[in-house]
Amino acid sequence: MKVSVFSTKSYDRQFLDQSNVIAGAVHRISYFEAHLDASTAALARGSEVVCPFVNDQVDRDILEILARQGTRLIALRGAGFNNVDLAAAAELGIAVARVPAYSPHAIAEHTVALILALDRKIHRAYARVREGNFSLEGLLGFDLHGRTIGIIGTGRIGTVFARIMAGFGCQLLAFDPVESEDVKGLGGRYVPLNELLSSSDVITLHCPLTPETRHLIDRQAIERMKRGVMLINTSRGAVVDTTAIVAGLKSGTIAHLGLDVYEEEGDLFFEDLSDQAIRDDLFARLLTFPNVLITGHQAFFTSEAMQAIAETTIANIAAFEASGKPLHEVTADAHLRHVQEKGLRA
Ligand code: NAD
Repeated sequence: MKVSVFSTKSYDRQFLDQSNVIAGAVHRISYFEAHLDASTAALARGSEVVCPFVNDQVDRDILEILARQGTRLIALRGAGFNNVDLAAAAELGIAVARVPAYSPHAIAEHTVALILALDRKIHRAYARVREGNFSLEGLLGFDLHGRTIGIIGTGRIGTVFARIMAGFGCQLLAFDPVESEDVKGLGGRYVPLNELLSSSDVITLHCPLTPETRHLIDRQAIERMKRGVMLINTSRGAVVDTTAIVAGLKSGTIAHLGLDVYEEEGDLFFEDLSDQAIRDDLFARLLTFPNVLITGHQAFFTSEAMQAIAETTIANIAAFEASGKPLHEVTADAHLRHVQEKGLRA
């Protein structure tokens, strides 16, 4: 099939080409560095398959252009599909596929990396030691052993994360409308969200972005947290209200903040902007706090995860070519059934 890949980086090309070769190099893949939007959609003219990334907005307008140009499959290179108008895709006869799971370990382990770096102030120690400053002033950390970790969302990633933190000897609190037997088996206790917020020393977010979870961590939620809490978000940026987070940092309620995602990351992440001024004042404000550690949506970025994403993407395309249905289809109906079954809001 003819495939147009948007928001391409060298590593996307490397792993997708590898998987395509293993599959017999049956697909003709064109790579574009550009994001998918109304001005770039024409690049995909004649491609049955379009392969966007997390920050490409696949809305009705874009889908209409793609449908007119002959696109029949949107093959997402990730698990989240909050950036796709599924109803519009269905109306236009475009199937949508995703990579439901690649490596929950990659994201869970990055979450732990943020926690340890913030707790033990590794980012500050690294800079100090390189400048010949071996003072420990301001580097005091805390033992994770015995601390209470509040996990919001205990699906694939949240469960792996819970297992790692149980290994540190932490107490686990969890909030998820669907309880995980694995988490309970680790001694995790499901509690109402407010109890998790007020009892946890470290709070980590592993739920998807839905209308219900948008700004789940807002001013009121922060007011319920323990003074000195550590908050880590490796899920989706808009699960937290960034303005409220800045206020929480200024008041001292949030003593450590680790972010791998940001509400407005589409204008920043995945690009080298080192010779430009940051135009996003809120993001720039976050960077001024010494107790804030931000990575640019890199939690998924391990070779194991990249290989799995590429293999599943190629498998989705192959299945679509063979049967008209991708391996891992996402439809508006199926999504609605899933959230209703789980007692969530669509
Ligand atoms: P998953 O579907 O296995 O688990 C998500 C869990 O969140 C489910 O158990 C679900 O019941 C729960 N949930 C849904 N609504 C909730 C709510 N209102 N409150 C609490 N829990 C709720 O998904 P996963 O594979 O574990 O991924 C979780 C999220 O991680 C993804 O949706 C994505 O946003 C994010 N992610 C980030 C990266 C990264 O690189 N930073 C990579 C992959 C995934």
